Amino acid sequence: MIPFNKPYVTGKETEYIQEAVASGKISGDGIFTKKCHTFFETQLGFQKVLLTTSCTDALEMAAILIDIKPGDEVIMPSYTFVSTANAFILRGAKIKFVDSRTDHPGMDEDAIEKLITHKTKAIVLVHYAGVACDMDKVMDIAKQHDLFVIEDAAQAIDSYYKDKALGSFGHLAAFSFHETKNIISGEGGMLVINDERFEQRAEIIREKGTNRSAFFRGEVDKYGWVDMGSSFLPSDIIAAFLYAQLESLKEIQNKRKEIWTNYDQAFRGVLDEKHEVQLPCIPKFATNNAHMYYLVCKDKKERKALLKYLKENGILAVFHYLSLHKSSFYKANCHGEELTYTDFYSDCLVRLPLFYELTSQDQAFIIGKILKFYR
Ligand SMILES: *Cc1c(COP(=O)(O)O)cnc(C)c1O
Repeated sequence: MIPFNKPYVTGKETEYIQEAVASGKISGDGIFTKKCHTFFETQLGFQKVLLTTSCTDALEMAAILIDIKPGDEVIMPSYTFVSTANAFILRGAKIKFVDSRTDHPGMDEDAIEKLITHKTKAIVLVHYAGVACDMDKVMDIAKQHDLFVIEDAAQAIDSYYKDKALGSFGHLAAFSFHETKNIISGEGGMLVINDERFEQRAEIIREKGTNRSAFFRGEVDKYGWVDMGSSFLPSDIIAAFLYAQLESLKEIQNKRKEIWTNYDQAFRGVLDEKHEVQLPCIPKFATNNAHMYYLVCKDKKERKALLKYLKENGILAVFHYLSLHKSSFYKANCHGEELTYTDFYSDCLVRLPLFYELTSQDQAFIIGKILKFYR
């Protein structure tokens, strides 16, 4: 069976973990955490970052930082992972879901404005498949209505909008290093802080509501409980793993892009033009970080048949998000809004195997079977 995903390990991870262990300090904010922070700030140009134990945690921190209170409204796509919404639900927010685009599963930027009310506090956008939302458009809307923007950049490492890294546009952004993402640490994440107002409080919230980070820098002479918070910081063992991955960022990305391009060259002009399959769309303002290669079948029946056919041939392809507005948890709170395109992608999208160690023979086999299915 060709798996859908296989976590790639560079070989340096265990060496760095041993180093972290030997240093005698393996709780949070050790040597490797600092190395990761410096990498992101210098290589990707982020103003200030904090590693977290997951993207989910980074999103929860964001919801606390922008002071979400019961009754506040937050606008976000329905076609996303549960954590995008959960982080805000935990603070009592009401979610207003936006439909997906016609040409791409990402949120329809033109459908945001009509959902804004006097209770709206933030737009939480998702760079689906690592492909940028139209940030000029979203930031303009946010500015006009005085809203916070949070980027769920879980899939968007090393991806850019008009040459600027995704994650550096919103007031805050959240990344994931879960084993299914491009750069991994098993579980892991990061909060990016692009607005200085949040820097100090973010450190405090991440350290159980204490000013311990400032204490360790010698800025205060004792530390104590100064705000609400939780334990959002990862152990230095996780950071050691992550740092090994970051050192290989270029190599990992080049390989993923090569695999992505192989799929695209085989399918474009064939599946889209002859078989009504929607292929990934990378707008002019966006780059491709090869997080995902997907096909959007023309209907649910076709997707079911394709997944079954691939499975029978030893290929594990998967569908993706079940739209949140129709989830058993949220349905009761929804107001019957029709999200036509969200439903379409929920019913029809198929993700193909894409991982560093996918061999060219295996990929040729997958491509051959898909073309055969459509023939
Ligand atoms: C993976 C993912 C998350 C969750 O990341 P974790 O690190 O597992 O918490 C959130 N949002 C999106 C869009 C994701 O793809």
